[in-house]
Formats: sequence, structure tokens, C-alpha cells
Amino acid sequence: MTEAATPTTNAPATAAPLRCWSCGGPVASGAVFCATCRAVQPPGDADHFARLGLPRAFALDAAELDRRYFAAQRQLHPDRFATRSPRERAISQSQAVSLNDAYETLKAPLARACYLLKLEGVARTPDQDHTIDDPALLMDQMERREALGEAADGAAVQRIVAAADADARDALAAIARAFARDDLAAAARETTRLRYLEKLIEDARLARARVAPRQAAG
Ligand SMILES: [Zn+2]
Repeated sequence: MTEAATPTTNAPATAAPLRCWSCGGPVASGAVFCATCRAVQPPGDADHFARLGLPRAFALDAAELDRRYFAAQRQLHPDRFATRSPRERAISQSQAVSLNDAYETLKAPLARACYLLKLEGVARTPDQDHTIDDPALLMDQMERREALGEAADGAAVQRIVAAADADARDALAAIARAFARDDLAAAARETTRLRYLEKLIEDARLARARVAPRQAAG
């Protein structure tokens, strides 16, 4: 019974209904609890969006993400499983791990974009492949790196950070537009830009700490 790799569509990966390990009743993909007996279910292979009950899209309501995550987290609190069997405790813990993984990935726009590209079948995503094959982007990166290397004081570094911050917001908006029109090539390109801008901002913050060590009070 070899199931060939499923094509990358928006259809759920598992078509066959899942069965509750405890009562054998049907369980929806991504459901944390059995609707029949309320037993906690193993995390399974639901994607991060399905796990949090959100549509598979880059545009995301951050408040809704938080609300769903914290509600699910409360349901999986260890106190609720204190008197349950070791098996149920273990399953609830693996659910909590999967839930945290989903939340961390979807909350950070860069991680969310890379994850969505992977789900859509893009083989080389910017979090794994750091190659920049866009000459303009490469030149831009070199210029910013050079400016950062030459920045003599905290104010100069701060200007570089502010410019990179503004461009990162621009990249984020471009990623959202690209995903909205299913332009995966553009989404991947802008995600690469966002990745290197975030890295630059991170490095610049470290550089600022170096060029402007905290002054002792007085
Ligand atoms: Zn059940």
C-alpha cells in the first residue's frame, strides 16, 4: 500500500479519516481531542495552519493566532492531565510541542513565509539556502555591509538599522502581495530580501553594542 507523494495542492494531506486511539471513533485531522470520548489525540501530520485552525495563507490575523494558540495551550496544560494515564500525559506533551512549533513558525513572518513556500512545493527556501542570485540584491547587501563596517558611532549604526527596518517592512508587504496572487517566485525573492535584512539588523545591533559600549552612570 504505497501512497505516492501527494501533489502540492491545498487539499488536506490525509484524506482517510483518523481513528481515536482510545475509543476508535472518528477524529478530524488536526483535532486535539476526540469528539466522542474527549481523549487527547497524537499531533499527527497536520500542517501548522491546520493545527491552529487558520487558513493556509501568508496574511494572518496575529490576534487570532494568539487567541487560538493560548486557548489550545490552556487545554494542554499539564495540570489537566495530572490524574490521567502515562500514555495520555505523553500524548498531551507531544501535542504541546507540536503546538509550540506551529505557533513559533507562524508568528514570525520570515519563518511563516519560508514554511509556506515549503508547503507550496518550493524546494530551495531562503531559510535553508542562503544563496543570493539576484545581482541587485547582492550589490545592495554589499553596500550595506560596507557602510556597517565603516560606521564610526552608534548614531551611524542606528541610521543603517532604521533604513534596513523600513526596507524589511517593505519586503514584508511585498511578500504578502506575492502570496496573495500566488506568485511563488516573487514571494521567494522577497523572502530572501527579508532574511538578509533581518540578519543585517541583527548584526548591526551587535555592532552598535561594540561601537557604543554602555556608558557607566555619572
Ligand atoms: Zn475517542
